[in-house]
Amino acid sequence: MYAASSKALFLALSRSAALKRLASKYGMSKPDSFARRFIAGETIEEAIEAARALQARGLHLTLDYLGESVTSAAEAAAATREYVRLIEVIVASGIERNISLKLTQLGVDVDRATCVDNLRRILDPAQRHGFFVRIDMENSPYTAVTLEVFETMWQQQYRNLGVALQALLYRTENDVRRMNELGARVRLVKGAYKEPAAVAHQHKADVDAAFSQLTRLLLDHGTYPAIATHDERLIEDARAYAQQRGVARDRFEFQMLYGIRRDLQATLLSRGYLMRVYVPFGQEWFPYFMRRLGERPANVSFVIRGILSERKTV
Ligand SMILES: Cc1cc2nc3c(=O)[nH]c(=O)nc-3n(C[C@H](O)[C@H](O)[C@H](O)COP(=O)(O)OP(=O)(O)OC[C@H]3O[C@@H](n4cnc5c(N)ncnc54)[C@H](O)[C@@H]3O)c2cc1C
Repeated sequence: MYAASSKALFLALSRSAALKRLASKYGMSKPDSFARRFIAGETIEEAIEAARALQARGLHLTLDYLGESVTSAAEAAAATREYVRLIEVIVASGIERNISLKLTQLGVDVDRATCVDNLRRILDPAQRHGFFVRIDMENSPYTAVTLEVFETMWQQQYRNLGVALQALLYRTENDVRRMNELGARVRLVKGAYKEPAAVAHQHKADVDAAFSQLTRLLLDHGTYPAIATHDERLIEDARAYAQQRGVARDRFEFQMLYGIRRDLQATLLSRGYLMRVYVPFGQEWFPYFMRRLGERPANVSFVIRGILSERKTV
């Protein structure tokens, strides 16, 4: 329950303009500022540098240009242009061609047609250049629309596309079965948002049990699933199940977030597993950052120490 209430508190705080101003002032201002543990940088160039360092260690990556909940067509168009530029910069840089994005960043709240057009503007050059594009999953008011947009693009033969599904939602078993039927690639996550009891499990043990069951469904019938968690027990469970069912190590991958459980990332890599790191960057890092704090309240003391030490030196 503590985890659920801290999640709710941090999600509420993530809407505070004053806190956002304070965090923006100190969070990324210097090379060792506190938000840099979770955010690769505010510019594409910084993100590419971080990606290169990960790749040099044998890790795979996906780059995410941070942004969400845009309320105008102009903002959605600007985010789309940034993604197209990101594709060009990634191609020029030679790093792995894999990106993640959110539909509220591309204007799904403005209107669905605008969002689909924007997504197509990204998917076309992405497809030409051999990119894989993952649609992140946002909170439950967006689950249905995200999957509908995903299927629209899938039916239009965009096959360089996958989606994230959240184990905490009751509906996810059906969604996993549907994606398995399509042959679409799923990233399974626990779910980062506080959701009502009408649609989602409220207790960690239930979310974990659902995650484990859905991992099995994906390993048995899915197409190159991504098991995205830092939970050692669930990772061990997935490894054991894959071994027992004879699922080869190149038929699935593990994923973790930038800056989280780097020790475990290295261990899985050394054991011959594919390990992909989600690398977020951009100026709109505050809501993403707050979700990371809400997941692990111990992170707050790390941030407070960072702010205090920076204030002394400013
Ligand atoms: C690659 C990737 C992509 C994701 N995409 C989405 C998405 O599209 N939609 C969505 O809703 N969610 C997404 N998430 C977030 C996910 O839903 C969880 O909120 C997040 O991964 C924390 O849950 P956990 O599985 O690590 O398990 P938890 O039970 O929360 O944590 C297990 C252990 O992991 C470590 N840990 C977890 N979080 C942190 C943290 N913030 N700081 C430090 N240590 C931590 C701790 O050691 C903790 O004990 C994504 C996660 C990953 C790894």
